[in-house]
Amino acid sequence: MGLWSGDEALNLEQPAVSRHTAPRRALAWAAIGRIRGHSGADADCRAGRDRLSADMALDPVALAQALIRRPSVTPADAGAMDVVQQALEELGFSCRRMRFGQIENLYARRGAAGPNLCFAGHTDVVPAGDEAAWARPPFAADIEAGVLQGRGAVDMKGAIAAFIAAASAADLAKGSLSLLITGDEEGAAEDGTVRVVEALRAEGERIDHCVVGEPTSTAELGDMIKIGRRGSLNAWITIDGAQGHVAYPHLAANPIPPLVRLLARLQARALDEGYPGFQPSNLEVTSIDVGNPATNVIPAQARARLNIRFNPAHTGADLAAWIGGECEAEQAGFSGEIGLVTRISGEAFLTEPGDFVEVCARAVREAVGRDPTLSTSGGTSDARFIRSLCPVIELGLVNATMHKVDEQVPVAHLQALTRVYGRLIDLYFERFSG
Ligand SMILES: [Zn+2]
Repeated sequence: MGLWSGDEALNLEQPAVSRHTAPRRALAWAAIGRIRGHSGADADCRAGRDRLSADMALDPVALAQALIRRPSVTPADAGAMDVVQQALEELGFSCRRMRFGQIENLYARRGAAGPNLCFAGHTDVVPAGDEAAWARPPFAADIEAGVLQGRGAVDMKGAIAAFIAAASAADLAKGSLSLLITGDEEGAAEDGTVRVVEALRAEGERIDHCVVGEPTSTAELGDMIKIGRRGSLNAWITIDGAQGHVAYPHLAANPIPPLVRLLARLQARALDEGYPGFQPSNLEVTSIDVGNPATNVIPAQARARLNIRFNPAHTGADLAAWIGGECEAEQAGFSGEIGLVTRISGEAFLTEPGDFVEVCARAVREAVGRDPTLSTSGGTSDARFIRSLCPVIELGLVNATMHKVDEQVPVAHLQALTRVYGRLIDLYFERFSG
């Protein structure tokens, strides 16, 4: 708590600051008032909503700072969603908070007509780790030499701020713009986007296309757009044998040999040689545990864990069935018990290059003069849930410092990403409005 000062601290939903009695809503308005790019009173802001122009747009830098100052380490929200909601309400979005478990989620929409272009993002961040290792306090949002410092700067509060700033300047006469913002992407991702998508589908809410603001750029802003992701499956194997003396193996059942054979067979299979646009699938054994401190004891149990990253040549269910079959084969000659638990964290998906991908790539070219590579590399993201609603791509800041000490983003990148998103919104409605 020592990292915040002044009224920035007042909006935190933590008991330590409950001595401040001013209503939170009023404080949030005050915060947005500072974010606005002009100095009018709140009433003037609202009256001016219909004639917003680029020079009156929200400042993405001030909004990113306000978000970073809410230390929303999953599952904490720390007032971050309030900052997003107030900024969007100010722009005429109708906002719905969707709380699942202890997670804050938000779906906001402006406009009733189709097509509906959605931006998806997350306000939660990974822990700062050792705060003393940071050059600047991780939740202070200091700007030094034109670089904004802080946890979430690139992953991905900066991108949320850039999209809202772009939306503030957009002409939405031709369709709808929406935002799906979750507080549970970096954690278990069980009460976040997956639940919001379920709820929206049940209501019949139509989203036509979606941009996820994950930091996909590698060296330069806009140099990469993700158009798909590999799927991910985790497996836990537990082999229960019978403990005994190493000199009397016939009186025991050693669980280690069947585990070694099983893992060797699983690793020996080349899952595929790639899939158009994707790297080959790979299986990695991530842990083997026996926990046996003695040299003369056959242990009772051996456990292993593995992860498969797979391209669209497979489904999670097929891979789980294959591992199950190999476990059964090993079980056949073993007196103990082989147990298997599998969990699919996401299926592979691909948004085929076409009009939507071209609109996104063209927006990058026109806004920052760069030709983005279309990629399916990297880990999973919330796009794995959104793909069941509509085509989805990911486009955001440079990912060099994400999840690291001294996460940071040049102010110029925030401004450039705002231009990219702004151009994307314009081109999207030009192309997809009837
Ligand atoms: Zn992220």
